[in-house]
Amino acid sequence: MDSGSASGADPAGGDGPSSTEAATPAPGVGGSTEAAAAPPPSRYESQKRRDWNTFLQYLKNHKPPLTLPRCSGAHVIEFLKYLDQFGKTKVHVTGCPYFGQPNPPAPCACPSKQAWGSLDALIGRLRAAYEENGGNPESNPFGAKAVRIYLREVRESQAKARGIPYEKKKRKRPSSSSSTADAGASSTAGDGDGGNGS
Ligand SMILES: [Zn+2]
Repeated sequence: MDSGSASGADPAGGDGPSSTEAATPAPGVGGSTEAAAAPPPSRYESQKRRDWNTFLQYLKNHKPPLTLPRCSGAHVIEFLKYLDQFGKTKVHVTGCPYFGQPNPPAPCACPSKQAWGSLDALIGRLRAAYEENGGNPESNPFGAKAVRIYLREVRESQAKARGIPYEKKKRKRPSSSSSTADAGASSTAGDGDGGNGS
């Protein structure tokens, strides 16, 4: 039982509490607001606050009533599904003739949902808001594994249904011995998802 001193590797790594997600500095849109009001918070901050209030409202209306400390990843997923009814992204069902077509030639009766990109960004904001409001980072329901899995499933199913291949993050495996010179290995930072809606 030679308990070798654990090397400093930190298995619980993942997202450290101090992920510096620098909010993009909002370029002064049309500036010159020399009125009395204090400078408004950045767009990200105000959006985050709105999302947070929406979530709190959701908890309040939840049946049975739900409090924040008792909120789990499953509840977060429930919340995301609830939001789908307000979505504007057409997601074709498998039986639809336009399934897999990014630009269908005609309307169809398929449901609209929240685009994956919107949900992904929303979860990021709520996760930050949760901790800013005193939540314990270690039990942050927005960082739950189930939520991550759900988001991945949404991404994959929407990619198929809409014919839009989202960039897959390939894990680089350093084990490959062939050190090929990087011929255009640059990630094609192509079109981000077109979901700049709302
Ligand atoms: Zn359809």
